[in-house]
Amino acid sequence: MKRRIFTAMCIIAMVSIILTAFFMTVLSYRQFQNGLKQELQNETVYVAAAMAEEGESFLTQLETEAHKNRITLIDTDGTVIYDNEAVANKMENHSDREEVQEALEYGVGESTRLSDTLGQQTYYYAVSLNDGTVLRLAATGDSVYSALWSMLPWIIVLAVVIAAFAFWLSRRQTHWILAPVNTLDLDHPVENDVYEELSPLLTKIHHQKEDLRSQMEQMHRNQEEFAAITENMSEGLIVIGADKHILSVNHSALKLLGAKGDHYEGAHILELNRNLSLQKVADQALEGVSSEETFTRGELICRLHASPVRTESEDAVKGAIILVLDVTESQKTERLRREFSANVSHELKTPLTAISGYAEMMQNGMVKEGDFVSFSGRIYEEAQRLIALIDDVMEISRLDEKNSDYLWETVDLYGAAQTVMERLTPTAQDHEIQLKLEGGKAEIQAVPRLIDELIYNLVENAIKYSNGPSDVVVTVEKGENSAVLTVKDRGIGIPQEYQSRVFERFFRVDQSHSRDENGTAGAGGTGLGLAIVKHVVSYHHGHISLESGEGTGTKITVAFPL
Ligand code: ADP
Repeated sequence: MKRRIFTAMCIIAMVSIILTAFFMTVLSYRQFQNGLKQELQNETVYVAAAMAEEGESFLTQLETEAHKNRITLIDTDGTVIYDNEAVANKMENHSDREEVQEALEYGVGESTRLSDTLGQQTYYYAVSLNDGTVLRLAATGDSVYSALWSMLPWIIVLAVVIAAFAFWLSRRQTHWILAPVNTLDLDHPVENDVYEELSPLLTKIHHQKEDLRSQMEQMHRNQEEFAAITENMSEGLIVIGADKHILSVNHSALKLLGAKGDHYEGAHILELNRNLSLQKVADQALEGVSSEETFTRGELICRLHASPVRTESEDAVKGAIILVLDVTESQKTERLRREFSANVSHELKTPLTAISGYAEMMQNGMVKEGDFVSFSGRIYEEAQRLIALIDDVMEISRLDEKNSDYLWETVDLYGAAQTVMERLTPTAQDHEIQLKLEGGKAEIQAVPRLIDELIYNLVENAIKYSNGPSDVVVTVEKGENSAVLTVKDRGIGIPQEYQSRVFERFFRVDQSHSRDENGTAGAGGTGLGLAIVKHVVSYHHGHISLESGEGTGTKITVAFPL
């Protein structure tokens, strides 16, 4: 802008200078020409007056003086009588000359033309003398041109000086015009006190600034909301652009993909993790296809879901969104469920095979009459075991359903233990085990039937895995924040390497401990007892711990929050 204003000013100044110089020259030329004519006219009058006094001899007298103008004396018929610059009798007849004709007719005549004799632009002035002859004086334009020529250096000097001044003034004016524009406070456009013409522009800037500010605020809010949502998501979220550079990545994604550091915005997705599955889903999504892949990192199993992001107007893929889900637990649960189904089928089949075998032997008359009671007793035992197994399976399945509709009540752990121990006294006596209950009342909020089942399983195990004669001690204590139930025996104990596994479904330390000499299930163990116990404890938000030593006995402690 500064340049344009400056250039425009300079051009205006230059054009003005050139036009002024031109018109000055033209005016001067005309002035000089008029001066020349006037001078010639005066001189003609003087010469005519002198000739009236002195006759033609005056003309020859003039020749001796350095006379600069041409003088011609022409007769009435046009014959040249005298000429100071040419030979008179060799000159052609001048009767056709305009100034001569006018002089003969009106007394005076003038004309400007190219001289035939001198070949130059010439001004002629003629007067008629008393004797009828015509006196004509002629002056060439030479003197005008030379006068102009002598003026030219001054004109040029003047033009240069004026040009320099105009240049300096243009610079100053440009600066002066632009100074308020350059110092505009665009942060507060309407507060500027500058040219009136700029007001609409400043008002527009003000409105646009306001719009921009509110848009930025909205964008900022959206960004904060987006960050708040994504950062609190347990799922990983990665947004990438078409060039596979990360636009946004949340904390969960970094954690699940095992990325070191926090700042990956702008980085290539390869820097996040070089796993092929991740690259594959990203590539496919950027090609416009949604895809899924499983990704493993150590024990962690993640599911990757990638979807393309398209622009609304064109259908081009502008980037992709990748969701990273931790599916370790669900995959584990799925595996356990599969194993559980296989185990249940197996455990159901064992007693059923035995029942079927006994019944077949009896049907075929292979059993002696005296053994009938014993065989039916075994069939009954296996059937009981089947019922117990099915009960346990149903219970554990119900506990698996997190939203089971159990009825919660206030339960006294001491009272519950007492009831269970009374029920188990005959079994304990069979095993020569003495049951002891210690401690006192401890009330908790719980599901009575589940608490009963929990205590029953623990005490029953303590009896089953004690080599009698021995004792099993149950203690109930109420602490500050929890009620604690302990079941302690002095039985066979659990080897260290199996202690973490006894809570798994169908896990038994030694199959022979749970089965009798015929290979059928013994002592009613299903291998689900401790699994149910663990489920019941977690259902009540409690905590279970196990201390055991091979040959020295086992102590299982369960703490329920109050
Ligand atoms: P089971 O029906 O076989 O008793 P549980 O789930 O109750 O199944 O127990 C799993 C395994 O843990 C048992 O088979 C046994 O080997 C071991 N166990 C449980 N309680 C005791 C205990 N008090 N003493 C020694 N071993 C035990």
